[in-house]
Amino acid sequence: MKKSFKILAVVLALVLVGTVFAACGKKAEKEPESKSNTETSLKTVTNGKLTMATESTFPPYEYMEGKDIVGIDVEIAQLIAKKLGLELVVVDTEFKSIIPGVQSGKYDMGMAGMTVDAERLKDADFSSSYAKGVQVVIVKDGGAVNSIDDIKGKKIGVQEATTGDIYASDDFGEDAVIRYENGAVAIEALKSGKVDCVIIDKEPAKSFVAANEGLKILDTSYADEDYAICFKKGNAELKNAVDKALVELINEGEVKKIIDKYIPA
Ligand code: GLN
Repeated sequence: MKKSFKILAVVLALVLVGTVFAACGKKAEKEPESKSNTETSLKTVTNGKLTMATESTFPPYEYMEGKDIVGIDVEIAQLIAKKLGLELVVVDTEFKSIIPGVQSGKYDMGMAGMTVDAERLKDADFSSSYAKGVQVVIVKDGGAVNSIDDIKGKKIGVQEATTGDIYASDDFGEDAVIRYENGAVAIEALKSGKVDCVIIDKEPAKSFVAANEGLKILDTSYADEDYAICFKKGNAELKNAVDKALVELINEGEVKKIIDKYIPA
């Protein structure tokens, strides 16, 4: 009896110790997993961060205010990041480098008043559209271009790789188009007579005309377009998560609120 009691006690002790060890083992294994498995389980370029590439001379969608990039796109992206439990990181680059950078995995997404267009859909995936864009023509007061028909045979300034560049090259030929690093440089070229007009998106066009005397926007618009966020092709997990957050923000009226703040009716 005594002996079997001893054995039982040893067995019980072993079971107890084993259970405690197993529990510890499980706990130690589980902890880091459960931490990364909260709302931030999305795989991004940098863990816990949402890296957005943009081009900061495109008011009111993105522009510099002191050392910060602010604007419609940045504010929408901030709300998206918040919904996803990520910290937004905004990186400023040339417009033409945004899609290649997203494709190579340098940035999670590109948000830069970027138009969804058939050519770009070959290289990138896009979210739902969150804003409308319009291509307009900026000319000099009293200059040679007073209608879209006048553009034929004239020099057109554009920001490289934008839809303004793509459409103008298609409609008026490569030779007619002079490409600049950004809209501000194209406007300088118009002022100094290097080009006869600049084709660019309407909202930045309004800022450029307001800031530079002797320029105006032609009454007719050149093209209507939809702005959306671009992603690496095939990165469905991130695209779907961002898109879901974006559509919620649209339905909640948050996107309209931000746009109305920057573009008063
Ligand atoms: N909407 C234009 C495009 O997508 C211009 C964008 C921009 O210059 N930031 O090409």
